[in-house]
Amino acid sequence: PELSFALYKGLPRKRPVKRPLRIALLTREAENYSSRRLIEAAHAKGHVVEIINTTRCYMKIGGIVPEVHLDGAALPNFDAVIPRIGASVTNYGMAVLRQFAATGAYCLNTASAIGASRDKLLAHQILARANIQMPVTTFANSPKDTKSLIDLAGKSPVVVKLLSSTQGKGVVLAETTKAAQSLVDAFRGLDANFLVQQFIPEAAGSDLRCFVVGNKVVGAMKRTGAEGDFRSNLHQGGTAKAVRITKEERETAKRAAKELGLAVAGVDMLQSATGPKVLEVNSSPGLEGIERATGKDLAAIIIEHLEHHVKPLSRYRESQ
Ligand code: ADP
Repeated sequence: PELSFALYKGLPRKRPVKRPLRIALLTREAENYSSRRLIEAAHAKGHVVEIINTTRCYMKIGGIVPEVHLDGAALPNFDAVIPRIGASVTNYGMAVLRQFAATGAYCLNTASAIGASRDKLLAHQILARANIQMPVTTFANSPKDTKSLIDLAGKSPVVVKLLSSTQGKGVVLAETTKAAQSLVDAFRGLDANFLVQQFIPEAAGSDLRCFVVGNKVVGAMKRTGAEGDFRSNLHQGGTAKAVRITKEERETAKRAAKELGLAVAGVDMLQSATGPKVLEVNSSPGLEGIERATGKDLAAIIIEHLEHHVKPLSRYRESQ
């Protein structure tokens, strides 16, 4: 009874399982740093990893048991699934992940948590509801409201962000209200979805990435943008170094991940004069930047988390 209560509450078991686990890594990039490190860490602990291309999976729903198929055959049951689903295939990836969950696999992050974190509007609303600080953020559907949107975000300077932005590519600083208006008009002309956000000048081109695994911050780095850039993205020429974070930053990162329902998350925040302000919570945080900056084996920490959370073997699975 104690064990099933712990699993029901999503709490770790006191002792990790010792048997070799069968783990599915859902990714289309088996060769990238994060995939390689996760595979390495799982092998080092005696587990078996299968790399599965999410978009090639197909499924049988409504049969006697839920099934996931690939290349003409049903996949075996997995103990755990590590989803690393690209943003462009989120919806189908979520369906595949739900299907794996239905087969009894423990999913490192659930489909609904990934969905919430990838929907920027929803994610901002969930965090705000939990009183997690963020830069004031405004959205509108109609071009008529452009001026009001910019006013609500604090007039100027404001940051305009494409909702589809990754790696800082669609993030622009507008120093004046006029510039903000031109930017918004340009994005609207391109039919692009965007948000307008209060600019936090104290962040000074840096942000914090806190890596959360199972309600713990297991690594943190400060990223600083290239000279003259307000964006700190490593892809834009930024640099990263390990930092000691404050208690408030640690609590904020843990709470943000928890509110979105993510067991593993990369929580990005700005250090403002009034404390940490969350920018984004990433459900498939990359390992390369943070492992290099901190020198920590975060892949091993993720695999250990799985060992604490997989379901015990059921009769059905034992007989397979
Ligand atoms: P992306 O998801 O494309 O990386 P972000 O929202 O993380 O976009 O923004 C990229 C970078 O720009 C952040 O890491 C941060 O350094 C900077 N930045 C973003 N929003 C703000 C803001 N409101 N105030 C100050 N700097 C910001």
